[in-house]
Amino acid sequence: MEKAAPIAFTCTMCGRCTRHCPVEIRTADMVKKLREELISKGIYPGAFAEIVRQVKEKGNPYGEPPSSRSLESVLEKAEFG
Ligand code: SF4
Repeated sequence: MEKAAPIAFTCTMCGRCTRHCPVEIRTADMVKKLREELISKGIYPGAFAEIVRQVKEKGNPYGEPPSSRSLESVLEKAEFG
């Protein structure tokens, strides 16, 4: 199963292959299930672990402090015109 990880995490799940498949095999659905299995076994790209950590610790995938997401903070950073 580990050998399938590069395929599972490279597929964009766009579904294009299904549109061209003569028997409409739903590759994206299979890839989704494979990803779920891999993740449940702790097999996933290292970048995913960092994203999960950021979400758990900061509540967002970028690691920004919650205060940076306030309306006032967003407006301060926004560039208009
Ligand atoms: S869904 Fe199919 S066509 Fe799209 S990236 Fe995955 S394998 Fe390729």
